[in-house]
Order: sequence, then structure tokens, then C-alpha cells
Amino acid sequence: HDQVVIVTGGGQGIGRALCCRFAEEEAKVVIADIDREAGFETLDAIQKSGKEAHFIRTDVADEDDVERLVKEAMEQYGKVDILINNAGIGHFESLFDIDVKHFDRVIAVNLRGTFLCSKYVAQVMKEQGRGVIINIASTRALMSEADSESYAASKGGILALTHAMAVSLGPVGIRVNAISPGWIETGQWKKAGERYTPEHSEQDKLQHPVGRVGEPEDIVSAAFYLASDDAGFMTGQNLVIDGGMTVKMIYEE
Ligand code: NAD
Repeated sequence: HDQVVIVTGGGQGIGRALCCRFAEEEAKVVIADIDREAGFETLDAIQKSGKEAHFIRTDVADEDDVERLVKEAMEQYGKVDILINNAGIGHFESLFDIDVKHFDRVIAVNLRGTFLCSKYVAQVMKEQGRGVIINIASTRALMSEADSESYAASKGGILALTHAMAVSLGPVGIRVNAISPGWIETGQWKKAGERYTPEHSEQDKLQHPVGRVGEPEDIVSAAFYLASDDAGFMTGQNLVIDGGMTVKMIYEE
């Protein structure tokens, strides 16, 4: 209630679900996204439901953009209670073929972006004496498929950044935790006109111990918990929300 939350990558997918659900709970939502069209669409959806939001076009890898994001959010709402570092990109290509510029961009958006947004928002939260930062990592920080070096490294970096910031920022009243989603189906959250209800094979579902693929709402629930005072004794941790995939032992046939 009456909380101000910044969600990076809030235009689509999990970020859009976070924005819409925080707005439903009467939070004031700052949607930060590099994609204008997606950002304005999320804004429109929230405003049509009579709730409060503001879109600020931001490339989280760009320091000037991030500085402006936090300044504008403060001008608009006067405080920031929660930052969700959700913006992320992937690039999956063989180590033997990949151009290092792709590696650099994935690290710049996923890891540098999380660092930059946290740095500027933490300054504000420090003055408030209170704040919560939630970093969206991935189960790919913990285990891998082939050809995922850039993404895995960026997400592993986010987990280390999470415990480092938890220790640095704990004394000024800021808790920092990560969520590592497994397979989350975001298809139904894509832009209007492109919406679809994805079909999953029995095998897709049954490879998860809980018997289904994840939904954005699974990540929203974890974020609500981490943002609440119920998680007041929790910082520096990583919540794995993956239907049990990472704890399932697999012996090859
Ligand atoms: P998505 O691609 O649907 O949405 C990502 C959003 O981030 C888009 O709106 C995009 O425009 C925005 N974005 C991209 N680069 C940006 C930048 N430089 N600055 C600002 N915004 C930028 O992705 P998603 O599936 O919703 O994933 C959201 C987060 O969750 C990502 O960090 C992703 O790595 C992580 N994640 C997703 C899954 C999954 O299965 N969907 C699993 C594990 C982790």
C-alpha cells in the first residue's frame, strides 16, 4: 500500500506481471524499459484499471539513463521503497563462434544494469533509512545447458552481487535478495495482438516435480514475500522458484 516500486524490464514478460500486480495492490509503479512500445502498453493497461504508474524509457546498461530514471522517479513519487532488477537479455551461441560483443552486452544489461540501478536507488533508500532490492537471477546461475556462457555468467554475477550488496547495505536498512526463476512461460504476457495461450507437452510438464511449467504469477508471489516485512530477517539470499527442476537428479539412460 502506497509503496513506490521500480521494475526494470517492466514492459513485457515477468516484469509486466510484476508491474500489473504491484499496481493492483495499490503500489505506485515506475516501469523502466528500453522498449518504448512495450513500456507504454504496460502503462496503459495499469492506468485503464484505474491504478497508478509512470513509464520512464531506460537502458539499464547506460549510467546516464539510470541516473535520470531515479531522479524522475523521485520527482514523480518522492521515494522509492522497492527496486526490482528484472531487465534481462539472453544470447545462446557456441563459445567457438560467439563474438565477444554479445558476451559484453549480456553482462552489460544483466549484471552492470543490476549494479547501476542498485547503486542509484540505494542512495535514495539510504536517505530514507529503508528499502528492498530484489534481483531476478535464474536457475542458469546454478546449472547449465551448453552454449549459455554469457547468460549463465551474468546471472551467477547477480547472485554474488546480491550477497555483496546485502552485507554493504544491511547497516543502512536495505535488504537485498535474489529470485532465481526456472522455466516461466511468459507467452501470454507478450504485447497485445501477439497474445497466445501456450501449449506445453506432457513431457514439458512432467519433467518438473510439481507437474507444470512456471507462470509469471509464481515470481510475483516470491517478490511480494521478499518485499514484505515478513521477510524482515532475510537478506543476501536466493529464492529458487523452478517447480523443483534444480533439485531433481537425472541419470542418463
Ligand atoms: P522478456 O524478454 O519477456 O522481458 C524482458 C524485458 O526487459 C523486455 O520488456 C525488454 O524490453 C526489457 N529490456 C531488455 N533489455 C533492457 C535494457 N537494456 N534496459 C531496460 N529494459 C530492458 O523476459 P522475461 O522472460 O520476462 O524475463 C525477465 C527476467 O527474468 C530476465 O532477467 C530473465 O533473465 C529472467 N528469467 C526469465 C526466465 C523465464 O523462463 N522467462 C527464467 C529465468 C530467469
